[in-house]
Amino acid sequence: MSGLGKGITTASIGRILKNRGYEITAVKIDPYLNIDAGTMNPAQHGEVFVLSDGSEVDLDLGNYERFLDINLNASHNLTTGKVYRNVIEKERRGDYLGSTVQIIPHVTDEIKGCIKKAAIQKVNNIVPEICLVEVGGTVGDIESMPFLEAVRQMRGELPSQDMVLIHVTLVPVDTMGELKTKPTQHSVKALREVGIQPDFIVARSTRTTDKNTKKKISAFCDVPPEAVISAATVPDIYEVPVELEREGLADVLCGRLHLEKREPDTGWYRTVMKNYTGSTTIAIVSKYGIEDVYISIKEALKHAGRALSTQVEIIWMDAERLDNASLAQVDGILVPGGFGSRGVEGKLQAVEFARTQGIPYLGLCFGFQLAVVEYARNVLGWKDATSEEIGKGKFVIAILPEQQNVSGLGGTMRLGNYPVDIAGDTLIHRLYGKKEIVERHRHRYEVNPEYIPELEKSGLIFSSRNRNRMESCEIKGHPFYLATQFHPEFTSRPAHPSPPFLGFVRAARERKAMRDRGG
Ligand code: GLN
Repeated sequence: MSGLGKGITTASIGRILKNRGYEITAVKIDPYLNIDAGTMNPAQHGEVFVLSDGSEVDLDLGNYERFLDINLNASHNLTTGKVYRNVIEKERRGDYLGSTVQIIPHVTDEIKGCIKKAAIQKVNNIVPEICLVEVGGTVGDIESMPFLEAVRQMRGELPSQDMVLIHVTLVPVDTMGELKTKPTQHSVKALREVGIQPDFIVARSTRTTDKNTKKKISAFCDVPPEAVISAATVPDIYEVPVELEREGLADVLCGRLHLEKREPDTGWYRTVMKNYTGSTTIAIVSKYGIEDVYISIKEALKHAGRALSTQVEIIWMDAERLDNASLAQVDGILVPGGFGSRGVEGKLQAVEFARTQGIPYLGLCFGFQLAVVEYARNVLGWKDATSEEIGKGKFVIAILPEQQNVSGLGGTMRLGNYPVDIAGDTLIHRLYGKKEIVERHRHRYEVNPEYIPELEKSGLIFSSRNRNRMESCEIKGHPFYLATQFHPEFTSRPAHPSPPFLGFVRAARERKAMRDRGG
């Protein structure tokens, strides 16, 4: 079932193998009919993650990239929509000439083909040795049937040591405080009905699965006791690989895959398990107010916090119910990406408060565009300044020229990697320490070139750009005020925190220290 932590489990299994020197890649299967996650409501499905090639994918790919420190591409997120599109295109081309096109074998062959192709795509310039394939959805759902059937077929086609099946199940705790194995037994039964017998069972629970419960699961589900792995809820997702290490999963897995058993390099664990010497509070002002929408931002703040030994406490603030008194209590204000007009006035209020009160500010994408709007309204006095996306008035933020004639909404924004040229003697230059960077994008609007000269004249600094497109802004004489058109959160990794986040959290930490001193 969803929400169990299959994504984190997958990423963590990858990590423990990577720590043993194996090159890892990962594929996520989403059984929905959408071609990609780009058109889905993040409040329902969580964050839309953006890859370097511009594909808009499931948030689990963000977990894979962060845990495994790799860059994936569109082929690593397979959906029913993509599979059917491929099959139908092939049918129209005449590739199946003469045959009746069916789910088995045509759709299942397509699925297997896509998995195999993705598995050997180079990541970080190396052909991977192990590919993790996460099958989303629930056993028994109509949507996931063709994928499970493809998995069943692969099992028969590959040498047994080349493929293992890991089943992640819920082990609930009953009112007496006992771990219940019934749901696991039933889901294994459901899997067997489609011809699949798992090799490993990962028991997801709020508690550690004890020896006896493991024995019971082992007996009922026909997996060896050492292949029943406890995965209890931990306070921080980066502790999951540590937990799997403790369970000895890597050795059993390597044994089953006929891979050399190796000692793990523990460097990564040291990176993620830093001790904190203090804490800072960051307000994220948005209309969604649910964490899943901004997973990458949450993680990027965590990465930066760890590097600075500061625990970042995030306060989610509803843009539609904002008050300055609460804002005054935080050490940093972040306005993230967003779409549409709901909550905009609150976000603008947050930007203004941060700018005028000297509170560290980080604006991302929409948070950059709104920073420009706020500056135009309150510094230049253009009271009707706005974005073409949100209302009527002076469009300091306007639709990108190449977007004017775009009609479809799927995959049509300015997406993915673009180079960004950084101007010298700016905050962003000090943060990145270089003049040219590449970051990921996802937007339809931009700073209107018509108003750039006046905005600059009044003190707003456009500190980086991609040709004549503004990529960041900042102001002088503020402890930390930076907003970017690009999304630095997508490339932040535990071992390489994103520079804007690092600078932002550092400034927040300074504010905290000042406040602690009573300043
Ligand atoms: N809605 C804005 C645009 O399309 C910002 C997008 C975002 O924040 N990702 O340009």
